[in-house]
Amino acid sequence: MNIHEFQAKEIFRQYGVPVPDGVACASMEEAIDAAKPMFSAGAPLVVVKSQIHAGGRGKGGFEGGFQGGVQLCKSVEEVRSNVSQMLNCKLITKQTGPEGRVVRRVLVEIGSIIQKELYLAILLDRKLSRPVMMASTEGGMEIEDVAAKTPEKILKEVIDPAVGMMPYQARNLASRLGLKGDLFSQAVKLMLGVYKVFWECDASLVEINPLILAKSTDGKIRLLALDGKVTLDDNALFRHPDIRAMRDFGEEAPLEVEASKFELNYIKLDGNIACMVNGAGLAMAAMDIIQHFGGSPANFLDVGGGASKEQVTAAFKIILADPNVKGILVNIFGGIMKCDVIAGGILAAVKEVGLKLPLVIRLEGTNVHLGQKMIQESGLAVIAADFLSDAAQKIVAAVKKGSEAVDAPSYHI
Ligand code: ADP
Ligand code: MG
Repeated sequence: MNIHEFQAKEIFRQYGVPVPDGVACASMEEAIDAAKPMFSAGAPLVVVKSQIHAGGRGKGGFEGGFQGGVQLCKSVEEVRSNVSQMLNCKLITKQTGPEGRVVRRVLVEIGSIIQKELYLAILLDRKLSRPVMMASTEGGMEIEDVAAKTPEKILKEVIDPAVGMMPYQARNLASRLGLKGDLFSQAVKLMLGVYKVFWECDASLVEINPLILAKSTDGKIRLLALDGKVTLDDNALFRHPDIRAMRDFGEEAPLEVEASKFELNYIKLDGNIACMVNGAGLAMAAMDIIQHFGGSPANFLDVGGGASKEQVTAAFKIILADPNVKGILVNIFGGIMKCDVIAGGILAAVKEVGLKLPLVIRLEGTNVHLGQKMIQESGLAVIAADFLSDAAQKIVAAVKKGSEAVDAPSYHI
């Protein structure tokens, strides 16, 4: 799960990671009410930042042509004019794709005088099976470019999860970043705080780009997390009800939201053959084999090991809600889940939605004969398949030929 920048900054605050003061606002009134006291307290700059689940906002542009999803403002009037061009408008950035994202909230934040932009992140390195903290003096810009062109500028500390991040590792990074004196101590404290966020929140990524050296009005230089991206491990969310409550359904694909209500693992893809499979491995295999026979999968859908009739019906409706879908492949192994339950769910859903698309079903396992009998006796135009490769070829051929089923040679796998 991803969260917004303002939510990431709330978490940072709780863990003592310094961030600028700011208020998330969903309306013009709220934005003005937030900005006014900042200016009256002497802030020379107030920043208005579009809140969407995508980076590259600063360099992004709005649908109408207005440039910049992050705007520096010198007066309440400037705040007003910028907010009016952002709220409820579509922001397109490198990360949103051409369809962009509608900005439903802006973060109104005290502007900082930036002396230098650094980069700091912690993520799970899957090859090493350990968290790795990465830092760079080349912050603010695309870190992927830095990694590609000048990999020596990305500093790394591999962390042993059994003992956590050791203070010497933070000191190593701070010193290699060239930080000295008070800034060195601030950096060590901040890095250990960032590690704590990562570990205690069960995050898979915490990224601060830029981490800045900010000049305060008293002339002192302070480290500040100016941006924040936190990605959380969905499987651990049950341990964090407060973080779970930060989920913004508006930022997620509607069909995926619907699927998660029924505890279905659904990911929409670009193809036209929908798949309904139980078990992630089997779902991957089904997608691969569709591709192998020249088709392209419209989704990944794992209905789980013990799905109920309601879940199967919901799954069916979800895959049919995708207008790209031209055919459906159901491939179920009845282990914990019984084939007759699946058959019942499919038949109920097919009747309810009045299915017109070709449907190939391959059932195997517990109560398979009962399931097959139910489907045969239903009188519905369903194409039965014996093996996964057989099923994949049949659905690929049926989709190619329109709604007609074709006999294809079958391979045993
Ligand atoms: P994104 O990464 O989505 O473009 P950032 O939060 O990194 O968004 O902001 C983009 C740039 O805007 C930053 O690199 C920084 O130069 C500037 N900026 C962001 N927040 C502030 C702030 N509070 N004060 C001053 N400048 C800011
Ligand atoms: Mg950024």
